[in-house]
Amino acid sequence: MDNCIFCKIIRKEIPSNKIYEDDEILAFNDINPAAPVHFLLIPKLHIDSLAEIQDNHQKLLGKMLLLAPKLAKEQGCDDGFRTIINTGRIGGQEVFHLHFHIIGGRERLPVMIHHG
Ligand code: 5GP
Ligand code: ZN
Repeated sequence: MDNCIFCKIIRKEIPSNKIYEDDEILAFNDINPAAPVHFLLIPKLHIDSLAEIQDNHQKLLGKMLLLAPKLAKEQGCDDGFRTIINTGRIGGQEVFHLHFHIIGGRERLPVMIHHG
């Protein structure tokens, strides 16, 4: 994926503030944080979005989900955090390389889901 910004970060063509890396997964701080802790967890495999996941991604996705609370805690989220996966146009996705936002900090995050 030549022009994908997150693939470029994985290839280190663009710098990032990395907080975790293994052979399949990378986590780095969001360039425009929404809260004191805001990092992105991405697979090194280019998958456009959550709408494109396949059965053969199951192990990778499970590994990412298991990693999320460990990294959140390491980053100082000891009393909870929020995980967001924006998907497609309706979801407001801007970068089409699957990523989990992990967001937290000291204050309670604003309510996002309002019940009428
Ligand atoms: P989306 O709206 O697709 O869910 O979120 C994309 C996120 O990627 C945004 O929060 C944005 O700040 C972040 N982002 C976009 N470009 C870069 C970049 O070059 N480096 C980093 N670290 N984050 C980026
Ligand atoms: Zn990519």
